[in-house]
Amino acid sequence: MSLITYLTTIRFEFGAIAGLADDLRELGIKNPLVVADSGLERAGLIERLKTVLPNGSEVAVFTGTPANPTESAVLAALDLYRSRGCDGLIAIGGGSPIDLAKGVALLSAHDGPLETYAAILGGIPKITSAVAPLIAIPTTAGTGSEVGRAALITLDDGRKLGFISPYLIPRRAVCDPELTLGLPPALTAATGMDAITHCVETFLSPRFNPPAEAIALDGLERAIKNIERAVTHGNDPEVRHEMMMAALEGGLTFQKGLGAVHALSHPLGGLKQVSLHHGTLNAVLLPYVLEFNQEHSGVKYDALRQRVGVGPGESLADYFRGLNARLGMPLTLAGMGVPHDALVGVAESATKDHSSATNPRLATAGDYLAILEAAYAGAPLQASA
Ligand SMILES: [Zn+2]
Repeated sequence: MSLITYLTTIRFEFGAIAGLADDLRELGIKNPLVVADSGLERAGLIERLKTVLPNGSEVAVFTGTPANPTESAVLAALDLYRSRGCDGLIAIGGGSPIDLAKGVALLSAHDGPLETYAAILGGIPKITSAVAPLIAIPTTAGTGSEVGRAALITLDDGRKLGFISPYLIPRRAVCDPELTLGLPPALTAATGMDAITHCVETFLSPRFNPPAEAIALDGLERAIKNIERAVTHGNDPEVRHEMMMAALEGGLTFQKGLGAVHALSHPLGGLKQVSLHHGTLNAVLLPYVLEFNQEHSGVKYDALRQRVGVGPGESLADYFRGLNARLGMPLTLAGMGVPHDALVGVAESATKDHSSATNPRLATAGDYLAILEAAYAGAPLQASA
C-alpha cells in the first residue's frame, strides 16, 4: 500500500493577504502571534500585514528569527506567545520564520525539550494534532515550507535537526506573488534554486508516489522557464507568479523525501563558524550529487533532461553548472567561504540526516566526503556505479 495525502488549503493569487481576516476566522484564531524577521519589518511588511488583520495595531509580533532558526529563538517566541495569550500563529517570510513558527506551534502544545520531537531521534509519532494552528505567508519563492511538513531548527548544541509531522503542515498557505516583487536578484536566484532542488530531489526519491512526481516535474519546468527572467526582471508579475507556483509545487512533493543535496546542506547550514544560505548551498551541491546518483536513477534522468531542455545523454550536472553561472551563483563551496576543515564532520552528519534515506543511491560518509571535496574544489565527480 502507498499512502498519498494532499495536503492543506492554499489561497494563491495577487493580493491574497487581503483575505487574512477570513483565514483567521475560519481557523478559529482570535489572537495570533505574527512571526517574522527584522528584514521584513524594515521592508514595511509587518505594517502592511497589520492593515489587513483585525485589531492589527495590537497584534503580538516576534521579529527575532535568525537566518537559520535556532532553538533559543523558538523559546523566545514561545515566551511571547504565552505571555500574550495567543491561540495560533501567522508566519510571514522565507523558510526561517515559517520553520520557527512551526517550532512554536509544536511546543505551545507539547512538553519540551524540543529535541524530543526530532525526526532522527524518534520524535515523529510524538507530535500530535494538538499543534497550534499556523497560517504561512511566503515572501520568497523557494522553501515550500508553507506546505511542508518539516521544520529545520538548530539546537543549542549546534545540531541542525528536522522536525517532521503532517501536523506541522500549516493549516493554510497564503501565496501572494506580489510579496516577492521586491526580492533582490541574488535572493531570487538562491531561493529559486532551492525550489528547483526540491523538485529534482523529490522526483528522484525512490518512494512510490506518481502524483508527487508529476507535480515535481511541473514545478521544475515552470522554474527553469522563469528563474533567469525573475532574476533580471524582478518586477515582472508573470514570472513571479510562476516562480511562486514552482516553489509551492516543490513543497507539495516533500512527502517523497529529499536526497543527498539536502542531507549535506542541512549540516552545512548548521555550521557556527559561517552563515551559509540554504538555497545557495543546494545550487552549488546539486551538480555533484547528480553526478553521484547518475548510474542509480535510470530513466528518471531522461525525464529531467526533457523538462530542462537538454538532449538525450547530455550531462544534467553540466546543465545546472551553466544555470548557476548564468544566475551569478557561487560555483564552489570554497567560493561560499565553507571552511575546509568542517567537511569531514559535515559528511558524518549527512549520513544521519533525515533526507539521506531517500537519496536514490546509498551514500556513506566517504561518499559524502567525496561529493563535498569535489564541490569544494569545483572538480567534477567521477560517476561510478
Ligand atoms: Zn530546501
